[in-house]
Amino acid sequence: MKCKKCGTDNPQGKNVCTKCGTFLYSQYPNNRIPMTPEQKKQRRLTLFKAGSKSCLFSIGALIILFIVMALISWLMVRFLFTEDFFKTASDAMGTTTT
Ligand SMILES: [Zn+2]
Repeated sequence: MKCKKCGTDNPQGKNVCTKCGTFLYSQYPNNRIPMTPEQKKQRRLTLFKAGSKSCLFSIGALIILFIVMALISWLMVRFLFTEDFFKTASDAMGTTTT
């Protein structure tokens, strides 16, 4: 197992380089290949895109919710608290008091 840092050929089964002490990961063959700056940029871009997409989606959902709530409250005001409502309410109060 050759050390990536100093190039020393270490005996099989060693986890740490005998010369510089760098981990060799001889037990783990799936050594992470370092990403190139271009790959990193691409990854960051895709992550950013996904994040902004979900963010936009949540903002849109919030706006829709707000519109729906405003519509519901407007409908309630429009159909519940009309002049007739106040009239009937005052009539009912008048009949109960007298
Ligand atoms: Zn080494």
